[in-house]
Amino acid sequence: MIDETYVPTILVVDDMAANIAILSDLLKENYKVKIANSGKRALELARAKEKPDLILLDIEMPRMSGYDVCQELKASSNTKDIPIIFVSAKTSANDEEYGLNLGAIDYIKKPFHPAIVKIRVKNHIELKLKSAKLEELSMCDSLTGISNRRFFEEALEKKYKEMQRDNGTLALIMVDIDFFKPYNDNYGHWQGDEALTKVARALKKTIKRPTDVVARYGGEEFVIILKNPDKEGAKKMANSLVEAVRELQLEHKFSSIAKHVTISAGVAFKEKESLLSKEELLKEADEQLYRAKESGRDRYCAAF
Ligand code: GH3
Ligand code: MG
Ligand code: MG
Ligand code: MG
Repeated sequence: MIDETYVPTILVVDDMAANIAILSDLLKENYKVKIANSGKRALELARAKEKPDLILLDIEMPRMSGYDVCQELKASSNTKDIPIIFVSAKTSANDEEYGLNLGAIDYIKKPFHPAIVKIRVKNHIELKLKSAKLEELSMCDSLTGISNRRFFEEALEKKYKEMQRDNGTLALIMVDIDFFKPYNDNYGHWQGDEALTKVARALKKTIKRPTDVVARYGGEEFVIILKNPDKEGAKKMANSLVEAVRELQLEHKFSSIAKHVTISAGVAFKEKESLLSKEELLKEADEQLYRAKESGRDRYCAAF
């Protein structure tokens, strides 16, 4: 999450220790500074889980040049959005053009003027954080604060591929609030929104693993992706979700099956042997949800 307390990380890459020292001293007051003295090390740090927000990249280095590092980073979806500023003693217009063409956002010539480096870094970091924040917001449901459908669709695509690559499993749980139309009609839309938000939070709290996903699918429907569960685990999770909402004890005088808000859920499961596509997985979860509704609501259904 990017907020006011977030301290950006800058990766300084240079084969000369003296250059690293100068740049680190310059930036350490305002940023977390990581250093790499080779292209290989730079790639490792850029690919790590905690990515730098900006890379200051020397060009002339033995074995792997800054150009090569830049090309590799721009070629991978995992690292292509990290802004790169070349910091180089190669000062011709051709060098600068070449570097910018590789996808670098800026080019600083050595010897540099420290105050100017600081300002350029500050400007680029501000842009980077703004676009990261927008990206975050574009994936977030504004009412409930959980992930939205767009995030879900991207996550499903990604997790489906991972599952195929790693011979893993995947479960999809579709959730729908029971009798939510009468809830809205009687308590009003504002209170309906409140209830939706509380249900979303309860679902999110129940899903504890960081590799799992909870998203609002639309209206009063939610969807959950479980990565690598076994069959029993997936069913247990669906049951926990139903229980978590039941335990909220949100009064619902207009439900035909309980005195409080409840949900129904449908579970679909995919392992290597089954041939379900992403779309079929969704369809299966939806069909199981329909069965849960038909057989009394406030429960989950699964066909495995
Ligand atoms: P069922 O148990 O079969 O799911 O019945 P239901 O009444 O929940 O089903 P239906 O699909 O007919 O109603 C969904 C209702 O959810 C319609 C609308 O009133 C409400 N709803 C959908 N999105 C929102 C929202 O963003 N805010 C609020 N307050 N209500 C919403
Ligand atoms: Mg060098
Ligand atoms: Mg619905
Ligand atoms: Mg409903």
